[in-house]
Amino acid sequence: MNDCLFCKIIAGQIPSKKIYEDEHTYAFEDIDPKAPTHVLIVPKKHITGLKEATREEAEIVGLCHLTAAKIGRERGIEDGYRTVLNVGPKSGQSVFHLHVHLLGGRDLRWPPG
Ligand code: 5GP
Ligand code: ZN
Repeated sequence: MNDCLFCKIIAGQIPSKKIYEDEHTYAFEDIDPKAPTHVLIVPKKHITGLKEATREEAEIVGLCHLTAAKIGRERGIEDGYRTVLNVGPKSGQSVFHLHVHLLGGRDLRWPPG
């Protein structure tokens, strides 16, 4: 998708602090971190968000979560991290390319705001 911020980041047209990349997923530091670890994991394929994802995209959505788990393991934050998908404008979704937030490295309150 031409005008998508995260597609441009994946393509290297906009710089990012890359953490990890494989065939299907790309992970990079959030520009405005809300925790000591705040990584965004995105599918390389443009998917607008969770509610737009199709059954054919189930594997790729799952792989984004497994990339988050891998980074959580590597960062040594397995005593408590959170994966979050904001879905729709009322949730705070501001970028319409599906992304998993990986938040950790501090105590996380429940329920989230
Ligand atoms: P959302 O609010 O859609 O769930 O999450 C979008 C996230 O993208 C936010 O946490 C925001 O800080 C991050 N973000 C927005 N623009 C950029 C950017 O240009 N680079 C990076 N690395 N993160 C960004
Ligand atoms: Zn995109």
